[in-house]
Parts: sequence; C-alpha cells; structure tokens
Amino acid sequence: MDDLIDKKDALIATAKRCFDLRLQTNAGGNLSVRLDSADAIVIKPSGVGFNECTRDNLQVVHLDGTIEPSPHKPSKDLGFHLALYHLRDDIRAVVHCHSPWATGYASAGIEIPCLTVQTIEKIGRMPLIPLSAAGGPQTDKEINPVFKDRSVVAAVLANHGTIGVGSSLMKAQYLAEIIEETAHIAFVRDTVMAAHGKTAADLPRYGTDADARAAS
Ligand SMILES: [Zn+2]
Repeated sequence: MDDLIDKKDALIATAKRCFDLRLQTNAGGNLSVRLDSADAIVIKPSGVGFNECTRDNLQVVHLDGTIEPSPHKPSKDLGFHLALYHLRDDIRAVVHCHSPWATGYASAGIEIPCLTVQTIEKIGRMPLIPLSAAGGPQTDKEINPVFKDRSVVAAVLANHGTIGVGSSLMKAQYLAEIIEETAHIAFVRDTVMAAHGKTAADLPRYGTDADARAAS
C-alpha cells in the first residue's frame, strides 16, 4: 500500500476543507478514496468528525468488504461507497456532505436546476434520489441505479445530502462545493422571482445598449 499515507493526507485535507467551507458540520457526511496500490479504500469511520480526521483514525477497507483492524466503527455509508467503486472504475473518490442549501432543495422534492454555466459544463444534471423503500437513509439500492449512468457525477439524496464522485478527492469535493453553491443561487433566484411576481426570467437580449446597437 505505497500510496496509503498520501491518500490519507489527501482525505484529511479534503475533509478539513469541507468543514471550513461549512459543507459539513463535524457530525455526519463521509468521504473516501480508492488506493492505487491495492483493491481497497480509505474511509472516514463513524463517529469521527470531518475536522478530526488523522492518519491514525482513518479506516482501510478492502473492496470485498474486509475491514482492516481498527478501534473505530465502520461508517453507516460504507456500503454505498463500496458499491460505487464496484460499479464504475472511473470513480476513485466519493465525497458525501449534508450541506444545507442542497439538502433543503432535495427535502422539498425539487431537483436542483443546473443554472450556472459552470454547473452545466461540469455536472450536467444532479439527479434527486428519494428515501429508501423503508423510508430511511438511501443505500446502494437507491444510489447505484442513478450512478450506473457514467455521465452522472453528482446527485442529491432527499432528506439527507449530496454525493460527488470523481477521479480524485479534489475533483469530488469541487462537485460538492458546486452543488451547494448552485442550490444557494437557485434559492436566491426563486426567492427574487417570487418577490417580483415573475414566472420566467425573461432576460434582456443584450447586456448593454452598445451591444444592442452593435447587433443591429
Ligand atoms: Zn449521510
């Protein structure tokens, strides 16, 4: 496991960034990264906050589900993280946060619209995944069918949180940031439109009078 320390350090840095950006409080959420040197992942265990990850408390779990000896409990999310790595070889990192703007939209049963140029380009679509059949947290059974489509890199779990996947922790975490930012922008747009009684954005065709004159 040559890259174990590097991957642990990357996970610690990513978790701290999520915490500092308030994408995740110090309870809940999870993140993991696949090792290049073994069929295994590094994952934050249950009960360890995003701001408390250290080289000593992160867990190593093999893709067959075997957990390396650890004083910590495995995360409740371990099953869906492993399932995503089994599902797609392009997924090398998973970042799952309970970020409030995005989770608010999902809990209202509204798929976050890809409003910004950046979201259209980087994400394309953020599917909304409902609660599990039992009404509780989503498992691989709800999550896998959505991510089977290899174009999907981000999704939002109703009453739960976001998932971003990528070829590295940094890429997966950027998605977690963009999802949250887009939900915030969507909320501002929806609120402003409602306050102004608008049902359509009806944007001006030209930015300035000079643009309009140049086009005529
Ligand atoms: Zn969660």
